[in-house]
Amino acid sequence: MIVKEERLSFVVGEFYSRKDVYQIMSVPEGKRGGNWDTGYSRFNNDCYVFANIGASGRTGHDYPNRFDGNDLVWYAKNGSKLSHNSIQSLLNPTGKVYIFVRESNDNPNFLYLGNGKVKSFRDTSPVNIVWQFTDPRESHPEILTEEVSESEKLVEGAIKQVFVNIYERNPLARKRCIEHYGVVCSVCEFNFADHYGEIGEGFIHVHHLKSLREIGKEYEINPIKDLKPVCPNCHAMLHKRKPEPYSIEELRGILWSQKKVTRKVSVKSNPPSIAAKPMRE
Ligand SMILES: [Zn+2]
Ligand SMILES: [Zn+2]
Repeated sequence: MIVKEERLSFVVGEFYSRKDVYQIMSVPEGKRGGNWDTGYSRFNNDCYVFANIGASGRTGHDYPNRFDGNDLVWYAKNGSKLSHNSIQSLLNPTGKVYIFVRESNDNPNFLYLGNGKVKSFRDTSPVNIVWQFTDPRESHPEILTEEVSESEKLVEGAIKQVFVNIYERNPLARKRCIEHYGVVCSVCEFNFADHYGEIGEGFIHVHHLKSLREIGKEYEINPIKDLKPVCPNCHAMLHKRKPEPYSIEELRGILWSQKKVTRKVSVKSNPPSIAAKPMRE
């Protein structure tokens, strides 16, 4: 048996229509449509999940899919049961489980979330699965550093939890925000790719601007009005004030006034030199 080097066919954070998926995976005409259009499908060894997020009511789905931290809480079709073959192949996949999400039925393009791994499931109807994305072959720029997420979790309990989870980690909202603003920190203007090159490409945190008081039950996020890209340093500093974080403008003010002070007192520093000391092997 020949073991082919496994390569993932989709890029996390990119958009794909079903047609794109058919083409990339060479799905023959006769095997398209059907289950592909209604939620999840199998092709060769792999499974494909297409989910709507935060569009309940509009889609008529009683069990809204949502993000919980970096995980996706997902419901299978109405009437689905644990014993169904289609569910079993998701729970015990022989290949990969490619998971795609979108905000509304009107949008033909889905954001590829990653190769999902079952974190937990519930024997309900519909079946409920929590997917996590831990495939080391994929990179997930939306995952916050633990320091930030832990400090945010400590504040305001449940409300804060929802705040961080749903708004700052929702990959779809992130994507829209970054498409609009780019990946430059709104506070200090740091750009990871400028400083770190290729490995910094596309890296940024996303900060949610609305105060907790403004977030009601029916609150729907506007990724451009309500989110701003920030670097992890500035993100941590924004959340230094609790429970209401500093505004972007306030922190900019603090940062720039501080820069003026340090510029006056500090001696011009040299970049670290690699030739400062003779090297020993
Ligand atoms: Zn910054
Ligand atoms: Zn934040």
